[in-house]
Amino acid sequence: MRTFSGIQHFDEHFGLLKDVPVEKPDVAKIVAAYGELTKALSEAKSPEEAASVVRDSFVLSDDVSTAFNLVYIRHEMDTKDEYYRSLSDFVDENGPKIQEASNAFDQVLLASPFRKELESTFGSLLFEEIELSNKTFSPAIVEDLVEENKLSSEYVNLISSALITYKGTNYSLSQMGKFLDDPDREVRREASSLVWGYYANHDEEIGRIYDRMIQVRTRMAKKLGYPNYLGLGYARMGRLDWTAEDAKSYRQKILEYIVPVANRIHEAQKKRLGYPDGMHYYDWAMFYKSGNPVPQGGMPELVDDARKMYADMSPIASQYFNQMADHGCLDLMARPGKAGGGFMCWLSGLKTSFIFANSNGTSEDVDTLTHEFGHSLQGFLGGVQEVPNYRSPGAECCEMHSMSMEFLTYPWMEQFFGKAADKYRYQHLCDAITFLPYGDIIDDFQTYCYENPNLTHQERKAYWRKIEKLYLPHLDYEDNAFLASGGFWEHQHHVFENPLYYLDYTIAYIVALEFFLESRKDWKAAFRKYVSFCELGGTLPFRKLLSKAGLANPMDGDTLARVSQGVQDVLSEFDPDKLDV
Ligand code: ZN
Repeated sequence: MRTFSGIQHFDEHFGLLKDVPVEKPDVAKIVAAYGELTKALSEAKSPEEAASVVRDSFVLSDDVSTAFNLVYIRHEMDTKDEYYRSLSDFVDENGPKIQEASNAFDQVLLASPFRKELESTFGSLLFEEIELSNKTFSPAIVEDLVEENKLSSEYVNLISSALITYKGTNYSLSQMGKFLDDPDREVRREASSLVWGYYANHDEEIGRIYDRMIQVRTRMAKKLGYPNYLGLGYARMGRLDWTAEDAKSYRQKILEYIVPVANRIHEAQKKRLGYPDGMHYYDWAMFYKSGNPVPQGGMPELVDDARKMYADMSPIASQYFNQMADHGCLDLMARPGKAGGGFMCWLSGLKTSFIFANSNGTSEDVDTLTHEFGHSLQGFLGGVQEVPNYRSPGAECCEMHSMSMEFLTYPWMEQFFGKAADKYRYQHLCDAITFLPYGDIIDDFQTYCYENPNLTHQERKAYWRKIEKLYLPHLDYEDNAFLASGGFWEHQHHVFENPLYYLDYTIAYIVALEFFLESRKDWKAAFRKYVSFCELGGTLPFRKLLSKAGLANPMDGDTLARVSQGVQDVLSEFDPDKLDV
C-alpha cells in the first residue's frame, strides 16, 4: 500500500483519539496526488496496473476524509476554539478544490479502456454512483459550493453560540433540553419560552441564511440543467432508485396509516396529563404525569451499563463498544460551546467510529448512545469493504442500523431504567410513531421550498404552519407568537445543513419497527439478520439492499399498513396509566 508524501497518513494503531494529531491539510499536495493518480490511471497498460492505481486512490481518499473529519470533530467539540474554527473554515473553503481533483480521477476511471475488468474487480455500483454524482458537479459550481458551506457554518455558529441565562446560570441550547421535559410545568413554560425566544430574536437572520441557501442551491441546480433543486438534491443524496414522486405517495401513506395512530397516542397523553386548560405546546414533551423515565446513573454508569449490555448481547457488539470506549472515541456530555445534536463519524484511516452527543441526564441519552452505536457497529462491520463507497449504504438506509439498534436493546432496558424500563419502552415506541408525521412535514416543507424558490421568509413560515395543522393537529401555539407564525422548523438543523435529508429517518424507522416486530418473535434470528444487514454496507442500492437483507420496502405495497397494525398490537399490551407512577 502506498502513502503520499506530505499528506497526513493514518493507521488503526492509535492510543487515544484525542492524541491523534490534527494537521492543517496540505491542499496543494492532495490535489497534486490526485493529479498523479489520474495520470497513472490514464497511462495504465493493463487491468492489474489500473486496479492498483484505483486501490491507491482509496488510500488517498481515506487519509483525506480522516483528516477532514478530525477537523470537523474537533470544531464541533468546541466551537469557541479559534484554532479549530480557523481549520474548519479552511476545510470548508478548500473541500471543493479536492472534490474537483478527485472528480477528475473519477472521470478517467469511467472512461478507462479497462472499465469492464475494473467493474468485475470493484463492482459496477461504484461506476453507477460516479455517473450519478457526475450529475451533481461541474467546475462551474465550485464557487457556489464554497458559499453553501459557509452558509451552513453561519447557521451552526449562530445556534451553537447561543447562551441562555436561566435562573442565573448560562446554558447552551442543547443544555436547555433537560428543562424542556421537566415535570414542573412552570419550568417547561419558562425554558421553552427562552429557547424559542432565541429563535424568535434571530428569526430574520435565520430566514436570510435559509433564503440564501435556497438561492445558491437553485442556482447550482440550474447550472447543472435541473429545473429546480429537487432533482439535484436527490442525485446528491445518491438516490439511485426512487424519486420525489415516490416520496410524495409515501408521505400520503404516512398520513393515512400513521397520523391516526399518532393522534390516538396524543389523545391518551392529553387525558393522562389531565390539565384543566388543555395541552400547551410545551406540555407534549411531558409524556407521563409522573415525569419521563430518567437513566438511573450519571455518565460513567451510562457507559458502564452499555458495556454490560453489549457484553450480554453479542460478542461482536461488545468487543467493538469496549474498543471505542477504551480509545476515547465517545464524547457524550453536553457543555457550553459544544455544537448541538449527536452524530457518529467513521474515521476510515483509523478504522474506528467516533460518537458525539450532548447528554444531559434525560432518557434521550440512552436513545442517542444505542442509536449512534448502531451506526458505529455498521461502520465497523461494513468497514471491511475495500471500496470506500461500499462501506455504508445510501442516506435512506444509513439510519436503519442505528434505529434498529434502539429497538434491539429493549430487553436490556432494566439496566438503565430499573423498574421504569417498561415506562421507557412504551414511550420510546410511541415516540417512534409520533415522529413519523414530523419527519413527513420536514420533507413536505423542504420539497415545497425548493419547488418554489422565490417565496419570502414569511410565506415559507405560513406554509409550514398550514401543513403542521395537517400532520401534527395536536399542536396549539396560541401563547407563542413565533411558533404560531410557523417558525418551528428553524431549530431543525437538517433543513439547513442536509437539504432533503429527513424523510430517510422515517423510512429507516419503518425498517427498525420491522426488526422490532421480528425480534419479539425471535430476538436471536432478528439480530443475525441485523448483523448481515450491517455487513452488506452499501454494496447495493436502496431497493436491492432491502430485498437482499430480507426486509420489506416501506414505500411499497402494504408495508406501512402492516407495520402500523403490528405496532398498535404491541401498544395495546401496555397500560400507560399504570406505568405513570
Ligand atoms: Zn443517526
